[in-house]
Amino acid sequence: MWVEIVRVGEVNQTVVETVRKGIIKYLGPIIENSTIGPTFNMPPAAYNPDRQQYDADLILNRLCHRIRGSHKVLALTERDLYTSSANLNFIFGLAQCPGRCAIVSVARLDPSFYRKRMNKKLLLERSVKEAVHELGHTFGLEHCPNQRCVMRFSNSVLEVDEKPASLCTECWRKLYTRVL
Ligand SMILES: [Zn+2]
Ligand SMILES: [Zn+2]
Repeated sequence: MWVEIVRVGEVNQTVVETVRKGIIKYLGPIIENSTIGPTFNMPPAAYNPDRQQYDADLILNRLCHRIRGSHKVLALTERDLYTSSANLNFIFGLAQCPGRCAIVSVARLDPSFYRKRMNKKLLLERSVKEAVHELGHTFGLEHCPNQRCVMRFSNSVLEVDEKPASLCTECWRKLYTRVL
């Protein structure tokens, strides 16, 4: 399986490249290769002025129609996302579960979002974790109760920081039975 990483709007190049390597590191050998695809414009229809956020479901649907093939598509954006399918103030990402397409927003993974000092290392670590998490969903993995698993649901950056970037043994087992 290989993954095409696309950007929706401009995304920091170090984030893109670190995520590209990170998903192979933590999901290899299931994911054998990852490439950097095009940058798409944010669809104007995705913006919700009341929420001042972007509709992740709409973006995901459009991307999945636009990019054909049997590989997986991971979109990255610096815009803040929400989903119409759950009652949440924001989401770090959204994925088809199972499916081909996933999106991760790095907006709230950046310490400067919380008026804290910029910390590139932390931003990169969080971005990799959320990318691995959303791709895990595309393989059909649900949220995991194990605190030491990347598939644990995170409602805040503190929870993202608490979990590792890797899957627990049980999620690996499920992944292998689903993929092979
Ligand atoms: Zn999730
Ligand atoms: Zn797990």
